[in-house]
Amino acid sequence: MMTNRIPDGWFDLVSALRAALDRDFPGVSVAELSADRGWLHVRVDHGSLDPADQLCLNRRIQGFVTASLSTCMCCGSGSGRDRGDARRVTCDECENEKEACDA
Ligand SMILES: [Zn+2]
Repeated sequence: MMTNRIPDGWFDLVSALRAALDRDFPGVSVAELSADRGWLHVRVDHGSLDPADQLCLNRRIQGFVTASLSTCMCCGSGSGRDRGDARRVTCDECENEKEACDA
């Protein structure tokens, strides 16, 4: 599996995603996980899922992707927001202490 660096603040989000997939879609493997576009990018191998289950899987993943848009890449708080061209999501607190965070 290819994994680009996932920001520390997204660790819990990614863990929850993996746990949800393991539990509800055991036949599915994650082919790619990355954060390089400023949101969580997930690509999976659908395996032998039928179309209805694929739809369900995609919706489930989309929920995590949506959550990533407001999850601080630095501390994991849910009050993050996108910082324009920088392709990162941080909360105001972390944004004001930039040195402490390398997200
Ligand atoms: Zn933060």
